[in-house]
Amino acid sequence: MSPNPASVDAPVSELDNLRWQQLESRLPGTSFVYGVTTTGVVCSPGCPSRLPRRENVRFYEDIRGALQAGFRPCKRCRPLDKVGRDLGALLARVCRNLEGYVVSGADAAIADVASDAGMAEATLLRHFRSVTGLTPTEYLAAIRQCRLYPALAKQGSVLQAATEAGYGSASHFYQDAPRLTGMPPAKHRKGGKGEQLTFALASTELGELAVAASSQGVCWIALGEDPGVLLDEFQDHFRHATLLPPNDAFNQQIAAVCQLVQHPEQPVTLPLDIRGTVFQRQVWQALQAIPVGMTLDYQQLAERIGRPTAARAVARACASNVLAVAVPCHRIIRRDGGLSGYRWGVERKAWLLAREKAAPEGN
Ligand SMILES: [Zn+2]
Repeated sequence: MSPNPASVDAPVSELDNLRWQQLESRLPGTSFVYGVTTTGVVCSPGCPSRLPRRENVRFYEDIRGALQAGFRPCKRCRPLDKVGRDLGALLARVCRNLEGYVVSGADAAIADVASDAGMAEATLLRHFRSVTGLTPTEYLAAIRQCRLYPALAKQGSVLQAATEAGYGSASHFYQDAPRLTGMPPAKHRKGGKGEQLTFALASTELGELAVAASSQGVCWIALGEDPGVLLDEFQDHFRHATLLPPNDAFNQQIAAVCQLVQHPEQPVTLPLDIRGTVFQRQVWQALQAIPVGMTLDYQQLAERIGRPTAARAVARACASNVLAVAVPCHRIIRRDGGLSGYRWGVERKAWLLAREKAAPEGN
């Protein structure tokens, strides 16, 4: 057998000879493509570029093989355009594979998807993005997001819904959701039965922020490090509530809450839906009456509501506050001036108080 000038991988074939003749004759065609090893470019027959030396040519059945081998599409003959339908079909297959991971709930292995498509992972990434505008991972997150709402409508909890939508855990579910479309997780049924709430998470200077609102107003504001933990807390508290997608009113409330927690010294108009016993509401109203820049201890707060012997109950009511910053329980410190505890982290309490203390008089 003579040495093979056309390919180092395969024996010289009659087919390759025919293909080479086609290139030499400059006849256009779509039955194969050829990669040029010296330029790293893949062309289709009929390309106006200078004819390469035959020993630098590698023939491929289709663009897929050439791309897999690492050739870039030629900018002159644009072989991708000619076989665009093939690539489109290939990417559609990739999409269906990705969707399969969402349905099964298994962790997606992009490498496996790429291998199934006969491409290197980096090649898949490049083509997938060029066609869909998304990376495969983003596409995965996007279809999970799309699936989320119908799934939530019929499922029993955020976690179940998240699982149904292809998320391994609630935290993972959260991480993808807001980044993509700005739409937070939609439905949740575990706590306030028959109740309809809107819920969202946001990042602030003070850390991660969770906000929920009813038609009456904001009913939940929590701060923390980990959005997954915030979601879990919310879920525990409103076990049977149904979550609705955010509307304009809620988006405005979220913005107002972000403003409030980052600038507690500035007054914000925020409708609040305060739930609690008569006593708790009394305590929380007294908290709201504490001016910016002032702090009280539990005893002083108990006196303010006319219950001087109820300091411990007052402390419990403060600890039950679910409206961080809006009901400013951070303005209660120990009699000796110590910060005492804070449901959302003592360092956040210190930050809030420092900001309020620094505020100009009269705010
Ligand atoms: Zn070309």
